Amino acid sequence: MMRTLLLELSESKRMARWVTSNGMSRRMARRFVAGEELDDAVAAARACNQAGMKVSLDHLGENVASEADARRACHAYLGVFDRIAQEKLDANVSLKLTQLGLELSTDLYGELLDSIVAHAAGFGNFVRVDMEGSSYTKRTVDLVKRVRGKSPAMGTVIQAYLYRSEQDIRDLLAIGCRIRLCKGAYKEPPEIAFPRKADVDANYVKLMKLLLPSGVYHGIATHDPQIIAATIEFARQQGIGKDQFEFQMLYGIRTDLQQKLVGDGYRMRIYIPYGRDWFPYFMRRLAERPANLAFFLRNLFRS
Ligand SMILES: Cc1cc2nc3c(=O)[nH]c(=O)nc-3n(C[C@H](O)[C@H](O)[C@H](O)COP(=O)(O)OP(=O)(O)OC[C@H]3O[C@@H](n4cnc5c(N)ncnc54)[C@H](O)[C@@H]3O)c2cc1C
Repeated sequence: MMRTLLLELSESKRMARWVTSNGMSRRMARRFVAGEELDDAVAAARACNQAGMKVSLDHLGENVASEADARRACHAYLGVFDRIAQEKLDANVSLKLTQLGLELSTDLYGELLDSIVAHAAGFGNFVRVDMEGSSYTKRTVDLVKRVRGKSPAMGTVIQAYLYRSEQDIRDLLAIGCRIRLCKGAYKEPPEIAFPRKADVDANYVKLMKLLLPSGVYHGIATHDPQIIAATIEFARQQGIGKDQFEFQMLYGIRTDLQQKLVGDGYRMRIYIPYGRDWFPYFMRRLAERPANLAFFLRNLFRS
């Protein structure tokens, strides 16, 4: 119930204004968000690279209200690729289609994604389209198929909690699309998503076993030690090398496990979000773990 409430609150503009203007919550958000400026993200990325980890930069923002906002987000992403190249970072980019205007009644988001993928390809770099709530899944998968048909410089994300994901993976593998597999962070009804965590976890392992032997380079995005162990064991049994896939984790979560896997010779990519629009992302991180919420509330009301 608490998870549902937090995910509903994550969409409240009024709550966003209140939380983002509070000094204590801004400080707490820094556990999960590198900072509000690209410079903050670059510093975090450099530290990750020095620790032997790759990075994916996410300029936070979603559900933009106007074409001008969507174009601004696109412009920011073009600048992120320039900066990655200047700084010689081992980093790519993750973005959300609602940040490029998926909700607006135009085809603008397709045009903007084309331009970002072309810019990434010019640097030999890569864009990953994050997966958002299920009302966007079909449009996201359809656009990814179109753009991936033209350029290998893009991939996407599949959520293990959705029943449709196995078919999406089969369709995307048929065009060689790189996939990040995650459990899924949004509130979804039982008609379309596994309601029980145990079933999500079992489906995750099943989908991981489809991805790894495919010959395409995929990302196994989870902090779940059991799923990580299952992945390592499956790769070992199948003779899949440590350089043929990567683990991915979120900035600020299970840094001990991140370092351990790097020490064991596995590839690790850290998803580093930054920007002023951090509220929905922060709320999803609170929703994932009740202990985070209790800590946040104790400090918020003390401040
Ligand atoms: C690189 C990356 C990219 C992602 N991209 C997307 C995306 O595009 N779309 C999408 O829907 N979801 C995305 N997610 C989020 C994902 O769907 C899950 O909500 C999130 O990763 C938590 O699931 P888990 O696999 O870690 O397993 P869980 O079973 O939720 O957690 C396993 C363990 O990880 C630790 N942990 C997990 N979350 C937290 C937290 N918030 N705070 C502290 N500890 C925590 C705890 O120790 C927990 O016991 C992404 C996740 C990662 C790692």
